[in-house]
Amino acid sequence: MEQSQGNAAALNVIMLGPPGAGKGTQAERFARVRQLPKISTGDILREAVQAESDVGQAAKATMSAGSLIGDDIMIGIVRERLNRDDARGGFVLDGFPRTVVQAAALDQMINGRGPLVVVDIVVPEDVLVRRLATRRVCSKCGTNAAVEWTGACQKCGGALIARMDDGVETVLERLKVYQRETKPLVDYYSARPTFRSIDGNQPPDVVTAQLDAAVTELSRSAPL
Ligand code: AMP
Repeated sequence: MEQSQGNAAALNVIMLGPPGAGKGTQAERFARVRQLPKISTGDILREAVQAESDVGQAAKATMSAGSLIGDDIMIGIVRERLNRDDARGGFVLDGFPRTVVQAAALDQMINGRGPLVVVDIVVPEDVLVRRLATRRVCSKCGTNAAVEWTGACQKCGGALIARMDDGVETVLERLKVYQRETKPLVDYYSARPTFRSIDGNQPPDVVTAQLDAAVTELSRSAPL
């Protein structure tokens, strides 16, 4: 299909919410069920850091400090990713956009590619701090460990470790950055008929069910 052609049947979903809200877990579940690519900019950057590519080397210190990578770099990464064939029928974005500049660029990128459904996962700050302090991820495949995983990663057997930016001070900085740079996106999107807030302070399966129902409803009522 031509890049400029529209695709009314595409399902384009954005997960908004602070660090620790469960965006990654929910995006992965939703993308698996709907057979859409999950595009996590945090994962893309962590892979680049691991591979010691130019982008990775430039991003490492910024990520460790809990700050944001520049808009131009992030917009370039996402534009390239959304132009791949597997994203033509839609996608689930996790971690992008994170600034109003990124959101405006995304609107341009997906113009004519079907509706954009925006789900904001809301969780109180004290719960986020607790979750991030105890979060473990797989050192090999990056999967977030489920609470019941005590030993190794149940997907690939890798060791479970704390993420490099989940230390207390970095978490507090990331939450500050969220309030300053990313929370304004709620205002940016909330007047649209395809926006919905979901209570993320519930058991993960309940959030999954509510998310699924919300996206189904919103995508049906979306203007094409
Ligand atoms: P995440 O896994 O989404 O929490 O992202 C981890 C880190 O990657 C963030 O704290 C930022 O340093 C960086 N990052 C991920 N996505 C973006 C983005 N859209 N804009 C700027 N920085 C980002």
